[in-house]
Amino acid sequence: MASDQFEQFVAWAKRRGVIWPSSEIYGGLANSYDYGPIGVEMKNRLKAHWWRTMVHERDDIVGLDSAIILNPKVWEASGHTENFADPLVEDVVTHKRYRQDQLTDLTKSPDGNPLSEPRSFNLLFKTFIGAAEDSQSVAYLRGETCQGIFINFKQVHEISRQKIPFGIAQIGKAFRNEITPGNFTFRTREFEQMELEFFVQPADAAEWFEHWVASRLAWYVDLGLSQERLRLFKHPKSQLAHYSKGTTDIEYQFPWGWGELEGIANRGDYDLIQHQKFSGKDMSVFDEETKEKFTPWVIEPSGGVDRALLALLIEAWQFHPKGRSGEGEEETVLGLNAKLAAYDAAVLPLIKKEPLLKKAAELVKKLRADGQHVFYDESGSIGRRYRRMDEIGTPICYTVDFESVEDGPNKGTVTARDRDTMEQKRVTI
Ligand code: ATP
Repeated sequence: MASDQFEQFVAWAKRRGVIWPSSEIYGGLANSYDYGPIGVEMKNRLKAHWWRTMVHERDDIVGLDSAIILNPKVWEASGHTENFADPLVEDVVTHKRYRQDQLTDLTKSPDGNPLSEPRSFNLLFKTFIGAAEDSQSVAYLRGETCQGIFINFKQVHEISRQKIPFGIAQIGKAFRNEITPGNFTFRTREFEQMELEFFVQPADAAEWFEHWVASRLAWYVDLGLSQERLRLFKHPKSQLAHYSKGTTDIEYQFPWGWGELEGIANRGDYDLIQHQKFSGKDMSVFDEETKEKFTPWVIEPSGGVDRALLALLIEAWQFHPKGRSGEGEEETVLGLNAKLAAYDAAVLPLIKKEPLLKKAAELVKKLRADGQHVFYDESGSIGRRYRRMDEIGTPICYTVDFESVEDGPNKGTVTARDRDTMEQKRVTI
């Protein structure tokens, strides 16, 4: 997508019920978005696909759904109350705030004005538990989902009877009071993460790290992101987060530049040791072979649901000002991977008349019984109905016509129209 098409893409996302600004009837809330009827389907499918590949298709990973508000000690132990901060600078004239590490010129603001001294801005959202709003009742909305995994590590290890190496996966909301949210859903204050914490023998950590970097990169390519718009960024040692022994980001070339989709970090034993220190509970495991106790190291592939979906939509979105034929009306086509499309198929009676409607209803019933999400549409010209489906990425349209119901060689068949090739074939119901 050319960068000047991004606005048009955002308008499409709203018009077609994918993503739109939140709280609009109250004038909106900056950098907050809601997923509409089409977007929620895509997002759910993306999460289900991640879960399937990470949990269901493997013997060595199990799932978890931990609470969003945890004991505040968790965030002390993890280092978030102290370290989870970005360097904030302020334009002294306009009072606009910037993340210092994102400025290209550290001496002045993008508007050319002097900047304040940087100060540390904690990203955790604070809240209060119970009726009294005092320091005793302070709690935090989780800034990442993985801490819920670390604090449950021992229980999951025992209950699932897993042996090292094994992993725990979780998908859920995380909250960060970002200084500079923006670029649509790329950076928001409330977002969803898909995180795996994979616990390994310290000696095997480097190898597992490489495994997960390669495997996660392949996952995005398999879903349809092009190789040329993906790259790996290895963090230099000086820029590593306090817990990390090595981090590689998977980046995507968004219309505004390269941005992180997922970070794969070798967190060493930092988190388990911290929770052991703060909770007083032993986090080590027993190695049957060496007969020794040890604290596993953790390899963490941590991705964002919203960012991944945004990249996939941007990659899939095509705008043809004169249609795909080059000489028609403008057309938008979403070439999204069929696994992620909001609908598996649409069923369209050619015209709104019996016995076509009855036959179409039968087909809808069949497809639904088969577990498919089906869109039924009987109004308007067939060409327009196809284009509406192309615009939201429905991979296939089944059209019930007179041949489907009249005696003859095609009785009991419908046409199946392919979104990408626009080819139509007769198939038996
Ligand atoms: P960034 O450097 O962009 O702020 P990060 O390195 O702090 O991101 P992580 O802590 O590694 O991000 O979080 C893992 C993933 O969660 C990111 O790769 C991204 O996909 C997602 N994520 C993080 N912050 C946000 C946000 N504010 N909005 C949307 N997604 C986010």
